[in-house]
Amino acid sequence: MHRERVSENVYWFQSEVYAQVTAGSVAGPQWAVAIDTLAMPEETLAIREFVEHEIGVQVRYVINTHYHADHTWGNCFFPGATVIGHSLCRDLLLERGQPALEAARRQNPAFRQVKFVLPSLTFNQGALTLRVGKKSLTIFPTPGHSPDGISVLVEEDRVLFAGDAFMPLPYLVDGSADDIIASIKKIGRMGLENIVQGHGDIILRGEIDAAVKENLNYLANIVKVAKTAARRKSAQEFLDQNHVETCGKSRVHLGGLAEELHRRNLRALLLQEQQAKKA
Ligand SMILES: [Zn+2]
Repeated sequence: MHRERVSENVYWFQSEVYAQVTAGSVAGPQWAVAIDTLAMPEETLAIREFVEHEIGVQVRYVINTHYHADHTWGNCFFPGATVIGHSLCRDLLLERGQPALEAARRQNPAFRQVKFVLPSLTFNQGALTLRVGKKSLTIFPTPGHSPDGISVLVEEDRVLFAGDAFMPLPYLVDGSADDIIASIKKIGRMGLENIVQGHGDIILRGEIDAAVKENLNYLANIVKVAKTAARRKSAQEFLDQNHVETCGKSRVHLGGLAEELHRRNLRALLLQEQQAKKA
């Protein structure tokens, strides 16, 4: 697991095991907040170890940026902590997360120690403020990667933990193009120092405008490709001709997962187009 200090009392963690997924922590003098957990139990336990022994406080709140396994299945490793999430995050964890965990347990013994812990503090609009020592965290919806997406802004430092609303390659299979475009535009207007992406590396102030532009350009391209494909007889063939690079993104993102995620984006958008036509 990689670890970095983002600003005073603000930390970032990145998995070396699964898709460069990230998590964070903001510490106060008495207790700390964890923002997401990592995919594998031992990585989340390493975050806890760091917060408890290096910083010397316990995690009192865990904020889940959305319900996906790689961000939430470590909730149980912060016993006694209150989990915060969008109300849809709670619903989706119950509906989809629970059966997925049961299946994962059968395949990988590492997940047998994972217990399901749902958000108990939820909201569905506006924003939530959490004060940690001298820092104010503003938690607000940023849907699009999934319907329950939320981001966490460290106000004093202008550091945004964006969850998967911001990724090296926008991924919308479980969300919507309109929503993720709106979320990325909103993030682009926030005047940030850093964007902590849900996967991949931290984006620095000087890189933000270009990253926002590149992501919006990619999304516009794949929407166009899906619309064109939906009008063709051989829709799939047309999708296959439009690689991640043709749509304005490098294939090296996310340890080489970019092309596969791109293919899934296109398939999901095509399906939506075809369903919209039928309706
Ligand atoms: Zn993720």
